[in-house]
Amino acid sequence: MENCIFCKIIKKEIPSSIVYEDDAVVGFKDINPVAPVHILIVPKTHLANVNEINEENADIIAKIHLAAKKIAKEMNIHEKGYRLINNCGPDAGQTVFHLHYHLIGGKNLGSKIL
Ligand code: 5GP
Ligand code: ZN
Repeated sequence: MENCIFCKIIKKEIPSSIVYEDDAVVGFKDINPVAPVHILIVPKTHLANVNEINEENADIIAKIHLAAKKIAKEMNIHEKGYRLINNCGPDAGQTVFHLHYHLIGGKNLGSKIL
């Protein structure tokens, strides 16, 4: 989608640190990391957020989870643990309206969601 920053990253029109790519998903380092590991995992197809998931495209969520598992293993945090976070809509603080999951780890994140 035009003017979508994550679509531009996926198409490599703007630079980013891509750490993972397959036919459906890209993973790249967050520009403003909150932990030693902070990767954004996005579908190559533009979807604004979870509200646009339906029966036809829901398999992308499984693909994102499979990518998260692989990236976590690659970064050697799969046994210590990590958090996979999705923000959907303004009240959740979503700022980029291209579906993405934050893979966060590399330190103890505590037990609280908020
Ligand atoms: P949200 O708040 O929408 O869940 O998260 C958006 C994330 O995208 C933020 O953590 C922000 O740091 C990251 N981000 C925004 N613009 C860019 C960019 O141009 N490149 C990269 N790598 N990350 C970005
Ligand atoms: Zn997009």
